[in-house]
Amino acid sequence: MTHSRKPLILGNWKMHGRYDFNAELLNGITAGIKTTHSKHHVDVGVCVPHVYLSHSEDLCYGNHLFLGAQDCSAHAQGAYTGDVAAGMLPEFGVSYVLVGHSERRQYQQENSHTVALKAQQALLAGITPVVCIGETLAQREAQHTMSVLTEQLKAVLAVLGAKQLSCCVIAYEPVWAIGTGQTASPEQAQAVHAALRLWLAENGADAANMRLLYGGSMKPNNAASLLAQADIDGGLIGGAALISADFMAIVQAAVDNTR
Ligand code: PEP
Repeated sequence: MTHSRKPLILGNWKMHGRYDFNAELLNGITAGIKTTHSKHHVDVGVCVPHVYLSHSEDLCYGNHLFLGAQDCSAHAQGAYTGDVAAGMLPEFGVSYVLVGHSERRQYQQENSHTVALKAQQALLAGITPVVCIGETLAQREAQHTMSVLTEQLKAVLAVLGAKQLSCCVIAYEPVWAIGTGQTASPEQAQAVHAALRLWLAENGADAANMRLLYGGSMKPNNAASLLAQADIDGGLIGGAALISADFMAIVQAAVDNTR
């Protein structure tokens, strides 16, 4: 099947970083982007805490590094103290926003309908939502992986419709693999990605052209084998995104895979 899926390697800094640390990290990444010549082959971005967007924008500008946020509100604006509207994010050069990361589903009790509303707000703001979905270990062991994932996606489809869903990036992040050092094997991840792409196609989305990222302990030593899978179009990277050499090694693996 022909498609136009440029790989995407996206770092998720979570609640890490401070000014000096961020500057060193971003300088390392932008220097690496120049030497890997990744801009022609792979999109590279970092999702930083909201308060560092402005500083990061200055450091990313003109360096072929996309800027992302880690969350946005489900509302356009209003009395939602502490929240950040999707419409505020483009003012800081933001191109991507994570919605529905498992840590937010777990600690902020976000349900899939709220995640869908956040994705909708992002699209209205002209930002690409990265919709994170994933199953727990108990769900996988009970062989409920695909039913859990499709339930999470159905809620997004119900709000967005197939055309707008096609404008999202989907990140498959098995909850049991996030921050644990335990990775889905390339075969396990590929099987899920292929099934997700089929489900998206069957539900009217432009599945062949949608980017499906894998996330969950992707590191320099396993990135190449994961990224070589036919339906894995990039990675959402947590821990390894905080070390520029590791992050750029994953970018390099993505570049090599396009050759
Ligand atoms: C993540 O936070 O999205 C993630 C995949 O984290 P890690 O790479 O550390 O597992």
